[in-house]
Amino acid sequence: MAYAMVAEKAGGSSVFKKQSIELPKPKKGEVLIRQTAIGINYIDVYHRTGLYPPPGGEFPAILGSEGAGVVQGVGAGVTGLRPGDKVAYTAPGGAYATHRVIDADKLVKIPSGVKDEVAAAAMLKGLTAHYLIHDSYKVKPGDTVLFHAAAGGVGLIAGQWLKAKGVTAIGTAGSKEKCALARKNGYAKCIDYTKQDFVDEVRKITKGAGVQAVYDSVGKATYPGSLKCLAKFGTFVCFGQSSGPIEDFKLGDLSAYGSLYATRPTLFAFISERKELERRSKALFKAIKDGEVKIQVNQTFELDKVKAAHDALEKRQTTGQTVLVVS
Ligand code: NDP
Repeated sequence: MAYAMVAEKAGGSSVFKKQSIELPKPKKGEVLIRQTAIGINYIDVYHRTGLYPPPGGEFPAILGSEGAGVVQGVGAGVTGLRPGDKVAYTAPGGAYATHRVIDADKLVKIPSGVKDEVAAAAMLKGLTAHYLIHDSYKVKPGDTVLFHAAAGGVGLIAGQWLKAKGVTAIGTAGSKEKCALARKNGYAKCIDYTKQDFVDEVRKITKGAGVQAVYDSVGKATYPGSLKCLAKFGTFVCFGQSSGPIEDFKLGDLSAYGSLYATRPTLFAFISERKELERRSKALFKAIKDGEVKIQVNQTFELDKVKAAHDALEKRQTTGQTVLVVS
């Protein structure tokens, strides 16, 4: 049966309802995919709760922003893709379904040897790690940086990539076990920020010098501590708010803490042009195939158990990547 898990309204994880769907016909420039794996992301929680408007603008809505599958049909004008090709994508909304249509220019072919679950888990989180460390603050060998939620989806990818680039990465995570996992994935040090003051610890580790950049997706709970960890001219990269949005950002703090830079980036700006999506996806899949970055699918759920997947993510029970599978 073709079905979608539809969020009927903004709210808790109980808003998801299973609904059968007609197999959509791809229009001009579109592709129909039978999905095999769908990545779960924290942004899905923001869409569900209403912190961000749902993709498409209103409820009921099909959430989910990354996935992988097999091309079943192509609309007029689509070149370079045909039925049977394995593809992956990241695009806001529409992913929590067994089948979907999507614009062809959002799709990339999955390279041979990369599993669907890995591709589905890697597109949004891996491309995010890519732009964070190459663009938001472009790291250099010898830098020291701080990365919050180091054992999470984006965090585990970033730790491995930073290490490969000769960067000393300090992570933070919410338990001893998560810290041990972060250290196995590239982080030179990891601070359990539920037990220790991460600002004091970063100062100790860097002998008072501070770090060149802080990558902060936790938001309310870690601000303004993150600014206090930065070296002079350091960069505060605020890319999420799993603990709630920062409500009292003061521009003057950037001068008070050392002529700092701050940025609030979002992935979709970095891949809105087709050639950028291709360039970054190529770099990501190369890093995966070379073994520089290992995608760790540590939790899988059937698509119709999406509620359980959201509950685990929000309760901080997950590490690495979480994927919905369609069997
Ligand atoms: P994660 O797997 O990292 O899960 C979120 C983690 O945040 C939790 O596991 C938890 O780790 C930590 N956390 C800290 N405080 C809280 C809290 N109060 N409630 C829940 N979690 C908390 O998720 P993703 O990898 O999917 O995403 C990571 C972050 O990156 C999210 O904030 C997401 O929105 C953001 N993001 C931003 C993008 C962009 O382009 N701007 C793109 C992709 C993701 P711990 O227990 O260790 O603290």
